[in-house]
Amino acid sequence: MCIFCKIVKKELPSNVILENDKFLAFHDINPKAPIHILAIPKAHVNSFDEVSSETMAGMTDFIQEVVKVVKIQKAGYRLVTNIGENGAQEVPHLHFHVLGGAKLRWDHISDADPKGHF
Ligand code: AMP
Repeated sequence: MCIFCKIVKKELPSNVILENDKFLAFHDINPKAPIHILAIPKAHVNSFDEVSSETMAGMTDFIQEVVKVVKIQKAGYRLVTNIGENGAQEVPHLHFHVLGGAKLRWDHISDADPKGHF
């Protein structure tokens, strides 16, 4: 069973922000911003690459609720989901990083030359 499935089943602790029957939001254990939340579907899905549009519709409503709970809706925030090896995904259970609480940087995504591909 993956680590986030264990969190869903409460076999591992987490700092829960919001939960319903299908989704869970909890604080990232290693925050990269003053607010760093992970929003996940409770049913295991490996990544965004495999998620259904129905689950994504529910996830959209859920994340919009989460950002209201932590009061970052007006100031703005960033949503990130990493996919696979090049996406730097470490936990193979779909999760959206909700990052905010301060002005975020947008200047160092990769060490590769960003103009090197085309
Ligand atoms: P990713 O690289 O997109 O797969 O991100 C995985 C995230 O999960 C990282 O930001 C980790 O800090 C976070 N993480 C790993 N284990 C836990 C845990 N037990 N509780 C909360 N966050 C976790």
